[in-house]
Amino acid sequence: MMKDIKSDKEYMKMALEEAKEAGRKGEVPVGAILVKGDQVLAKDHNRSIELRDPTAHAEVLVLRRAGEVLGNYRLNDTVMYVTSEPCPMCAAAMIHGRISRLVFGTLEPKFGAVESKFELFKKDGLNHEVEITRGILEKECAEILKSFFKKRRGIVKFGVGSSEFGVKSRKAQ
Ligand code: ZN
Repeated sequence: MMKDIKSDKEYMKMALEEAKEAGRKGEVPVGAILVKGDQVLAKDHNRSIELRDPTAHAEVLVLRRAGEVLGNYRLNDTVMYVTSEPCPMCAAAMIHGRISRLVFGTLEPKFGAVESKFELFKKDGLNHEVEITRGILEKECAEILKSFFKKRRGIVKFGVGSSEFGVKSRKAQ
């Protein structure tokens, strides 16, 4: 039991490193890794801006890479570690991939699809059961998102190079 808890933390730390990398690049700082046994199949972070791809969330990128590594679209007996509660798209992708367990750090009130906004993993919902663990390194996972959005709001406030500002000023013309 203790050993499990310790390794959950260790893997979440790796996901957090990915999240930080996303933040450095101006992407929403979420990181994910997929583990099978003691093997890390894939790790990545949000890259929607970089790849100009609204589906390029950390979890989706990790599932795609793991499929390549395993040579199979079924990712049985894998554990997903992600710093933030997955959105409906990512939650559905995990169910399609047949991952066996999801471990996430902090809740995501706006899009969270585990318990915050939707409950896609609920028993008798979709026909694959995923074991859920939440709250691993919760504080750290929340903090990195909070400070990212705080910084971004500051930018919006002063109108420096933000898309929100751009849209607003076009409307005004
Ligand atoms: Zn997502």
